Amino acid sequence: MPETPRKSPVSVDPGRLRLDSGQTPSGVLIGMRCLDCAIYVFGQAVFCQACSSSRLEPADLSRTGTLFSYTVVRVPPDGWPGPVPYVLGEVELPEGPHILAEIIDVAHEDLKIGTEMRLALQEVRSGDSGPTFVVYKWIPETNATFQTGEA
Ligand SMILES: [Zn+2]
Repeated sequence: MPETPRKSPVSVDPGRLRLDSGQTPSGVLIGMRCLDCAIYVFGQAVFCQACSSSRLEPADLSRTGTLFSYTVVRVPPDGWPGPVPYVLGEVELPEGPHILAEIIDVAHEDLKIGTEMRLALQEVRSGDSGPTFVVYKWIPETNATFQTGEA
């Protein structure tokens, strides 16, 4: 079977996840910062929800945060590509926004509110010849350190 040439992965949501160029998925969550009240929002916005100012500038968000809440999902939304059940976590970033995403590489019994979490990017292939999407997930910081060998 001939190899199909590998397409560059694309962000599942370019308004929320900006990828670095290259074959290895790496990137950063993006949002907006209000120039009047300094509040951050996740994703795109045309005005500040806190003060209604339209003076917003693009901002990169942190790759780490703390676990704010989580739930075990046994009935997934239509088209969910991953295993079930899975853990959906809400992580609070130092800038303030809360980011919902799947938590991977951990049993939910081992999760604690306040655990340090790190952004993890994964490639998801859509169909045999479709584009490869990069999705964002959370992984406990201790596991991430173990996996990458970083101090
Ligand atoms: Zn504002």
